[in-house]
Formats: sequence, structure tokens, C-alpha cells
Amino acid sequence: MKYVISGAAGFIGSHLCDRLMEQGRQIVAIDNLITGQVSNIEHLLGRPGFQFIQADVCAPLEVGGPVDHVFHLASLASPVDYLAHPIETLDSGSTGTRNLLELARIHSARFLLTSTSECYGDPLQHPQSETYWGNVNPVGLRSCYDESKRYAEALTMAYHRVHGLRTNIARIFNTYGPRMALNDGRVVPAFIDQALKGVNLTVFGDGSQTRSFCFVSDLVDGLLRLSESEERYPVNLGNPVEMSILEFADEIRGRFDGRIGVEFKALPSDDPKLRRPDISKARRVLGWEPKVPLREGLTVTIDYFKRGVQSR
Ligand code: UDP
Repeated sequence: MKYVISGAAGFIGSHLCDRLMEQGRQIVAIDNLITGQVSNIEHLLGRPGFQFIQADVCAPLEVGGPVDHVFHLASLASPVDYLAHPIETLDSGSTGTRNLLELARIHSARFLLTSTSECYGDPLQHPQSETYWGNVNPVGLRSCYDESKRYAEALTMAYHRVHGLRTNIARIFNTYGPRMALNDGRVVPAFIDQALKGVNLTVFGDGSQTRSFCFVSDLVDGLLRLSESEERYPVNLGNPVEMSILEFADEIRGRFDGRIGVEFKALPSDDPKLRRPDISKARRVLGWEPKVPLREGLTVTIDYFKRGVQSR
């Protein structure tokens, strides 16, 4: 079985590569390293069955020999990164998705798109189920990410309908774990970084906005189950345990020096107020639900950051 993985040197992509290598699969790992880091896959380089190609998914892609699965994970995924590179973000969701769908079509391979809970925008339905069409500002700052993923979903469905491609769409909710970039601006690495430095945690807005955090090993498990399923419509993958950002700050503070405080900063525009996945579809269709509690996942993640392997 040969898998082509775009975004393979990124946070989730590299964990997916690890799992597939454990299963004895062959991998063609693609990344342009705009945010991915070679250090995430360094341990796999040179191993039989693992090939790394530094390439941009926006350029047409050729892969020799048979291909069984194409996973499209390449994207700027953190708000700080996609706000800094909005055009590249739109390109990887549009042109990049098109190129990888073509690759899957040419090889009669299965295709999995990693989409996002951002498709729901600032949701008016809570928790969010796959049948909700979302509340996205199409011209706001975050639209480069939200709309590129919504377009990618539409393109994926079109390839399924026109070419009969076996496609899957995962809507990924906030995921955390080792190999996140410490300075990518997302709340989990940001708070851990600040706590390790002994400075106040930066809470945006009043901290009442909520998120639900899924540990990366659970997410990878969900992606692999989805890729084997015949479900063509989007499936939410995330942990339904929801908390406010202020509660999350308290969780981090409790693990460090209690004297670390919080510092309130302006809320970014269009920052979703509530987010929690309804995962009944994933439970029903994939027999999947997250297993790793936040306490446990955070311990592993904090230990990783303490080891200071971060280079970005
Ligand atoms: N956030 C925060 N402080 C930070 C970084 C993020 O309060 O230093 C908030 C952010 O405004 C959002 C939530 O934490 O409400 C999650 O942000 P993140 O960037 O991790 O991902 P998002 O869910 O917005 O894509």
C-alpha cells in the first residue's frame, strides 16, 4: 500500500506518517516546509518505504508507480500563519487540492481531504454537526482559511460526483500534541511557551470563548478509520470536551508556578465564540471517539516542549 501525504512534515502529517510506517506502509511525504519542519520527520528519513519530496502542492505533482491513498494535509493551519500568508493558504486549498485530486484520479487512488471546523465559522449552532452550513464571513481576515477549505470540500465532492473518486472529508477540530510549533500562535503552544518562560498567559478577549481539544493520536486514528470508510460527506473529528479559554489557562497555570497570571489582549476579528464538535456521526460511521483525556495529553505535550526540540 502506497500513501502520498501532503503536509507530511507538519504537526498532524508527521504523526500520520509515524502511524503508517508502524503499519508497514510505503509513504511519499510531500511538504514545502513553509511551516512544516524536517525535524518532525527526521527519524523517518532514509528508512525503507519512506520518501520525502520537498515540493509545493500548488505545482503539478507526479508520483511514479501505483498509489493507493492520497491524504491532503498541506495547509497553513494556525491563525497567525494563515493571516501572514493568506494567498498561499487559498492556493493550497484550491490549486493544491486540485493537484492532489488529479493525482488520486490518475492513480485510481482513494483521496482524503483534511478540512476544518472553521467551515462552521462563528457558529450559530452548538455543538456543531456536519449538517450545519456555517456562519462564515467570506471577506474577513480568516476567510483565506475558511473559504479555501470550503472550496476544497466542494471540489472534493465534485471529483467524487464527476469521476467516481473514492473521497473522504475530515472536519478537524482543535488538535494538540508534540510537534506543534511552539511559536505558531495557537493557544496550546502559546500558553505552554509562556508558562515555561514564567510570564503571564495571553488570553484574547475575556476568555469566555470555548474550544474542545483533541490529542493528536486520537485524531490520527480517526483519519485512518475515515480513509477506509465509504462515507463521502464530511465527518467531524475532534474531542467533544469543551472548555473556555480562561478555564484552559487555569489548567495550564495549575501545572506550573501558581504565580503565573493572565493578561487580557484584544480578541482577533471573527474569532469563533463557541466550538464543540458533535461527533455522533464519527461514532456511528467509524466507531471512533477520542480516548486521551486532556490531562494526559497535556502532560505528554508539555514534556515535549520542555525537551526544547523546537526550532521554529
Ligand atoms: N487564544 C488566546 N491566547 C493566545 C492564543 C489564542 O486566548 O495566545 C485564543 C484565540 O483567540 C481563540 C482560542 O484561543 O479563541 C484558540 O485559538 P487558536 O489560535 O489555538 O485556534 P483557533 O481555534 O482560533 O483556530
